[in-house]
Amino acid sequence: MKKILITGGAGFIGSFLCERLLAEGNEVICLDNFFTGRKTNINHLRDNPRFDLIRHDVVEPILLEVDQIYNMACPASPVHYQHNPVKTVKTNVMGALNMLGLAKRVGARILQASTSEVYGDPQVHPQTEGYVGHVNPIGPRSCYDEGKRVAETLMMDYHRQNGVDIKIIRIFNTYGPRMLADDGRVVSNFIVAALKNEPLTVYSDGSQTRAFCYVDDLVEGIVRMMNSENFIGPVNLGRPGEMTVMDLARMVLELTGSKSKITHLPARQDDPLQRDPDISLAKEKLGWQPTTPVRDGIGRTIAFFEKLLSESR
Ligand code: NAD
Ligand code: UDP
Repeated sequence: MKKILITGGAGFIGSFLCERLLAEGNEVICLDNFFTGRKTNINHLRDNPRFDLIRHDVVEPILLEVDQIYNMACPASPVHYQHNPVKTVKTNVMGALNMLGLAKRVGARILQASTSEVYGDPQVHPQTEGYVGHVNPIGPRSCYDEGKRVAETLMMDYHRQNGVDIKIIRIFNTYGPRMLADDGRVVSNFIVAALKNEPLTVYSDGSQTRAFCYVDDLVEGIVRMMNSENFIGPVNLGRPGEMTVMDLARMVLELTGSKSKITHLPARQDDPLQRDPDISLAKEKLGWQPTTPVRDGIGRTIAFFEKLLSESR
């Protein structure tokens, strides 16, 4: 049994991680400022004596006795991380500094949730970990992309300078239950619009691609990475097999049986045109690859939003 801190533990991915690590018999401290996290994501865990919840912002230091730290705190949707871009930079940079300081002080292992966004609008396809990226440092996505790049830098420097035990994962687009209905990310936007018989809004012509990984598969990869030996990463975690945004829209319409129309809006600035992970390294080092077909995962996510929308009526 380990004492494990999960920052951003009340968020979409973090809440599944809390569940998983509790089920394995660990003590879990969920730390969150509830910017995009919700108590409803973790309420079912609060009776467990091995679960603790702390309302705290990672831009401020904190001292806790823990063995492992999963640093997941940061809004992931462009709508949310662009709402207060200066705060997004602080969360990524100060958050990583504070958690690394804690890891150094108490001798904990720390895993940083980085992102495929460190590759920017990639000129290498699919993306391998060796690709150093093509990020605009001054655009509306920079607060997130560059924030995560600095977080990776800090991780590597604390490792080299202070011997901190680190792990870096680069998460590609992940979806599933507990995404927010007003999250702004493409999967939740399309499903919610389809269920309400409202138009699905595709930015640009919808030929841009993403590869979508179901959250259960991702969590398995994250936990394997944390518990791996002699491997610090960075490692890509995602589901290979890009699809266009238009294809996703059509799939959602088919699986919901919705009559919604597809409408188009102008392209978002700096929107990456192609994204698809090369996960050879994760397969080799972690023996990990996703197993959930996209149609199955989207089906389960539709069921979640159907229930959510029917309860809010
Ligand atoms: P999310 O927005 O659902 O969760 C983020 C959580 O962090 C929320 O609970 C939020 O309240 C909390 N948080 C934000 N700022 C904080 C702060 N300053 N202090 C404390 N808590 C704070 O997003 P998610 O999809 O669960 O993403 C989790 C992590 O994974 C993020 O670091 C994100 O960058 C990374 N990631 C996610 C994806 C994806 O597709 N979901 C892709 C790449 C990377
Ligand atoms: N997108 C879209 N309609 C939406 C939301 C997103 O066409 O309602 C597109 C967006 O322009 C991008 C892709 O879907 O090309 C994925 O967007 P998301 O915000 O989910 O993630 P990210 O851009 O960070 O990969």
